[in-house]
Amino acid sequence: MPQVCLALFPGGVAPSGLVRKESASLIIAQRKVLLLNASYEPLGLVSVPRALRMVWQRTAEVLEKDGDRVLRTVRFTFACPSVVRLHEYVNVRKRRRSAGGLRAKILIRDRYRCQYCNKRGTAADLTLDHIVPRSRGGQSVPENLCACCHDCNQRKGDRTPDEARMPLLSNPAALWHDLDLTALHHAAASRPEWRKYLYLDDAAAA
Ligand SMILES: [Zn+2]
Repeated sequence: MPQVCLALFPGGVAPSGLVRKESASLIIAQRKVLLLNASYEPLGLVSVPRALRMVWQRTAEVLEKDGDRVLRTVRFTFACPSVVRLHEYVNVRKRRRSAGGLRAKILIRDRYRCQYCNKRGTAADLTLDHIVPRSRGGQSVPENLCACCHDCNQRKGDRTPDEARMPLLSNPAALWHDLDLTALHHAAASRPEWRKYLYLDDAAAA
């Protein structure tokens, strides 16, 4: 059994029904745990019980504990994890993109506004524009897609925003910035132990 399991489960005994929500202190159960891919890429936030289950099932390891916080069940006391890392790499990008929700996510990210003329529309009024056109090697990835009304889409045609003299209204950095990561950075304000995994210390030093 990995050392971390011994630390979490005194005596290495397998508790059945590991962490039951009803027996966990509500506050602890509501604390979030930063989940990292095997590559250390931040994947998102999970609950303490879920993180503990992943550790127990040996799909994840604990990298950081949440101070002295513990989760008590009827029979066991567990040190609360703050950061856990998957043992096996999960290709989330592929999964997220193949899930087919990309169009909806882009429209939400761009607040249903054409990123060239700022006109607001419904999902039916708006299309997705390849900022660098596909014919020029532009890919169908979030950072190269934006919400666009049909008029602007037609006007821009097969040109880059510069060529078409249609500057993007959104900050290009915002396009690069993963929505999920934005939420993580917000949450990290109260969790200094997450900073190094979100590369916030590097950003502050740069
Ligand atoms: Zn427009």
